[in-house]
Amino acid sequence: MRKVLIRILLPFSMLFADELQSPAEFLGYNLGDNFTYHHRVVSYFEHVADVASNVKIIPYGKTYEERPLLVAVISSEENMSMLDNLRKDNLKRAGVITGKASGKKVGIVWLSYNVHGNEANSTEAAMKTIHALANKNNKSTQAWLENTIVILDPCINPDGRDRYVHWFRMTANRWPDADPLSREHMEPWPGGRTNHYYFDLNRDWAWQSQTESESRIKLYNKWLPHVHVDFHEQGVNNPYFFAPASEPYHEYVTDWQKELQTMIGQNHAKYFDKNNWLYFTKEVFDLLYPSYGDTYPTYNGAIGMTYEQAGHSRGGLAVETEDGDTLTLSDRLTHHHTTGLSTIEVASNNVDQIVSEFTKFFTDGKKNPKGEYSTYIIPKTNQDDKVNDLKSWLDKNGIEHAVASASKSIQGFKYLTGKKGQVKVTKGDMVVSAKQAKSVLVQVLFEPQTVLRDSMTYDITAWSIPYVYGLDAYALKGDVKLSTAKNLTPKTKVITGSPYAYILPWKGINDLKFLAYLFKHDIVTRVSIEPFELDNREYSRGTLVITRKGNEKHGSIFDEVVNRGAKKFNRLLTASTTGLVSKGKDFGSSSMRVVKRPKIGLVSGDGVGSYRYGEIWHFFERQIEFPVTVLSSDYLTSIPKHDFDVIILPGGNHGYLNKELLNELRHWVRSGGRLIIMDSTLDKFADQKGFGLTKFATVDEKKASEKKNKERNLSERLKPYRDRQRSRLSQNAYGSIVKVKIDNSHPLAFGYNDQYFSLKLRSNRYAYLPRGWNVGTIQDSTAIISGFVGYKAQEDLRESMVFGVENIGRGRVIYLADNPLFRAFWYNGKLLFGNAVFIVGN
Ligand SMILES: [Zn+2]
Repeated sequence: MRKVLIRILLPFSMLFADELQSPAEFLGYNLGDNFTYHHRVVSYFEHVADVASNVKIIPYGKTYEERPLLVAVISSEENMSMLDNLRKDNLKRAGVITGKASGKKVGIVWLSYNVHGNEANSTEAAMKTIHALANKNNKSTQAWLENTIVILDPCINPDGRDRYVHWFRMTANRWPDADPLSREHMEPWPGGRTNHYYFDLNRDWAWQSQTESESRIKLYNKWLPHVHVDFHEQGVNNPYFFAPASEPYHEYVTDWQKELQTMIGQNHAKYFDKNNWLYFTKEVFDLLYPSYGDTYPTYNGAIGMTYEQAGHSRGGLAVETEDGDTLTLSDRLTHHHTTGLSTIEVASNNVDQIVSEFTKFFTDGKKNPKGEYSTYIIPKTNQDDKVNDLKSWLDKNGIEHAVASASKSIQGFKYLTGKKGQVKVTKGDMVVSAKQAKSVLVQVLFEPQTVLRDSMTYDITAWSIPYVYGLDAYALKGDVKLSTAKNLTPKTKVITGSPYAYILPWKGINDLKFLAYLFKHDIVTRVSIEPFELDNREYSRGTLVITRKGNEKHGSIFDEVVNRGAKKFNRLLTASTTGLVSKGKDFGSSSMRVVKRPKIGLVSGDGVGSYRYGEIWHFFERQIEFPVTVLSSDYLTSIPKHDFDVIILPGGNHGYLNKELLNELRHWVRSGGRLIIMDSTLDKFADQKGFGLTKFATVDEKKASEKKNKERNLSERLKPYRDRQRSRLSQNAYGSIVKVKIDNSHPLAFGYNDQYFSLKLRSNRYAYLPRGWNVGTIQDSTAIISGFVGYKAQEDLRESMVFGVENIGRGRVIYLADNPLFRAFWYNGKLLFGNAVFIVGN
């Protein structure tokens, strides 16, 4: 009797706690009836791992909003009992660790779900798939797992997904409204696609600027799967996309990688045909840009694929499609579930070949690197900071590096000039050789030019690492003798006594971090507007001078705080016992400007590009740790601008920015404000009264351009319809690298030399500023260093301003036509943005 009572009181789910429950049994609703919150998904995965002896959870980190990141590993019980040996065998086959693989050959399939948070079916599908894999009664899956390990990540981007799920659940009608015009299909800014800082995690695999990517790829590199699938969703009227991918393929994608993609696609087609489901292949989704969830695995030896289901944030629980049908969440997750299992099936049926081709990918690369060059030299004359930061990025990607053990002179390609010639390798220079396990990844990332077989790509076309880091570097055909790189030794030394001032040259983002630290501790800092010489050492413009004068209020703590900061950020300070310099301006001169701690307003919201806003937000909070006040575009008109020293308008269309607000911002600048305008926002200010920014230098130039366009438009009237997409490319400059001439005597360019490699993302051109400083300029199309630029866009590179500062009254408008913070990976641009915020206008 008592037993019966307990049975009645216990919830159903706990009665059979040791038996595998389906998602419906566990959640209390059928998959597809609602979107599941992330914590419930995690609980379900834990339940599966608790009751299924062949499933193991590996937690690998936390998101910015502290949601857990995890994968489930599933295989046969036999494989699970020797999981770590199988994993190591795989790394031995790749040559990533030494030794000979001794165990049996198993395939490793990694399924990644919901990288884009509002493509929210994927995680629901992941629950259905883990259940099918853990279910001992499922004969097919159990047979596949005999020779296959499945690693299943239910959600790469939990913060973004929960943002969507919370919004959907609080917005949707009681009964799903399939009318695509209802608000449950219209997600508001910023949407759930991105992570906490509004980064697209499907563009971040190689750069790992976000904590989710960094944590995941650490785990990924411990496994190096043979097949990787990234599950996505697309527009509601595009039924389903699966492999093979579209051209352009990177030229290093192997025949086998293409062949297996095709085999997998054919297997999917079989299931889709049987159910009369629509699909397409070989369109839109290409394999080029190295930082996607399909390309990055591909360059790491896997068959990397993107699957796209119709749905996306406009899918809701049910939505009407253009053919009059209704697409439900249940349909969507069934399709992703089908392709997930079908992928495992093909992998399992081809394990021997998959493993041997995977091994071949790595041994071939190591023996005979693809491409023109096989060795990359980073001379030790480069800034230590840049080299050290490059090293830690290489480590994150599992790319080996060493140093040259002897000096020699050899023919090579010089990145800085873009020309071939004699180069000198010096003992101690950093060397990245392509003769290593990660050879293909090295080649893709370091080559000066990516071969583009077709310019119709989905993303940027240039990313060569020496330009990203602004490094003097060479690419060589031959080898150089190597020795192991020494560990980085901290170079700071504690300065004892009470010097008159501390001095720090201004070179890069680590100096910015140190400055932010000084602000945080209320230390008064000066910046030298002119170069100076002291104790036989030359200091460039931008050097920080921290005098005791002005910091007396800190007493003896002053020295302690400065030394602690120097240690924390590995800054080599110089102590000076005098303010009297041997050349240049003394420390008490007006050329030693106090760097005022700015109060910063950063504009977000409707009209602002969420990625562009997120990059700046992330820069302040996570890269240099300096607080900003975030303002929303919907109340920007009504706040007192004078509370702020700096206002930043990230790229966007800024529909809210009317004449009155432009005028108000101008008045605020006139009285001393600093307005930073970035990227596409320049269009909003071009040719506006009161601002000096124009698209053309003169009326004649404008007329000539209009005439040319008119003639061209006439000649293009007869272009064939079939070329419609391609002809649009002529205006495109998306993601090429250009050499920008720099006036480094201006505070905006302190810390740079006379050129800067900029990532050009738009072809829009602006004339030299008539009143103000044209700090970064392009003269003509010879500035193009790498990547694709359409012929019309090339013309627009003539005599244009890229970075400029206009003085209005006591304030400044800072124009950054190219975005130096793009995706947080353009390392060399960070200081430029820091200068705009902290140094200009002091
Ligand atoms: Zn997506």
